[in-house]
Amino acid sequence: MDIISRITDLRLQHPFKIARRATDAYRQVISVEIEGGIGEAAPARFYGETVQTVRVALETIGPELPDDLDAIHDVMATVEATLGGNYAAKSAIDMALYDRLGKKLGVPLYQLWGLNPHKTPYTSFTIGLDEPEVMAAKTKQAEEAYPILKVKLGTPRDIEIIQALRNVTDKPIYVDANTAWTPKEAVRKIRELARYGVELIEQPTKPHDLAGLKFVREHSELPIIADESVKRASDIPMLAECVDGINIKLVKCGGLLEAHRMIHVARTHGLSIMIGCMIESSLGITAAAHLTPLVDYADLDGNLLIVNDPYTGVTLDKGKLILPECPGIGVTE
Ligand code: MG
Repeated sequence: MDIISRITDLRLQHPFKIARRATDAYRQVISVEIEGGIGEAAPARFYGETVQTVRVALETIGPELPDDLDAIHDVMATVEATLGGNYAAKSAIDMALYDRLGKKLGVPLYQLWGLNPHKTPYTSFTIGLDEPEVMAAKTKQAEEAYPILKVKLGTPRDIEIIQALRNVTDKPIYVDANTAWTPKEAVRKIRELARYGVELIEQPTKPHDLAGLKFVREHSELPIIADESVKRASDIPMLAECVDGINIKLVKCGGLLEAHRMIHVARTHGLSIMIGCMIESSLGITAAAHLTPLVDYADLDGNLLIVNDPYTGVTLDKGKLILPECPGIGVTE
């Protein structure tokens, strides 16, 4: 079966920086079409993928896809068995299959899954790393439109940054350290950050240091959310005692089917759930947004950070996610 793919350069409104990576001005995504269904992969080098590896994966899997594309569980089992890693590539295929099925049945994805579209959360809006005064200026710009801010930290000036932000906003703040802190440093900083009304901490320490995460959780009053430490459902049981919640991303886990699995496994372990994203167009963001009636926190702002979004789909009402009612993912080009 033919998988049609197209690479797009998404240009960023502001150069974007996080703790472990240099600033960059654009991100590449790859969109796919399978029998009228569309999906998108936003591959991350951190997880070993680029648009080129996604394209190779798509060429490999195309001829192997079964005829009955409606049976998504079966199709994705074939994809899983054939492709190994390649989670961003899998995510694009899975997204296109769900979009195709929704369009065929004439229902939006949330309805296909029996979800209440009014139960979507508010999304946070991300402030990338920069000089404290620049981050404060960006926060001031964003704070009227977005009720929750997510701030990237992981520098020697973390507390100074939060102080600068608190001078311009009293909105809830989530902090994402993107693995930058040692466990002891995390405990010390989180104690300070709590005094500035920070509500949760994402991935304070190294991805594989689960003992470190557990130490931070036991010595911190703020909820700890794992991101880089958790990719798929099978990672969740061993994390259950180490964190308060997990951040699910379609490109990490391999798509909507696995994301559903993760939601149920996480709930079984009493964990809270965030749905996050990469820098993506409204195609990838809207697909993820259809799952949000099932989660506690949404960080779906990747499409808001770019200036050349090829799609329109999910919209915001003062930060609350509003799902499109068109069949499938429901985006238009
Ligand atoms: Mg994160």
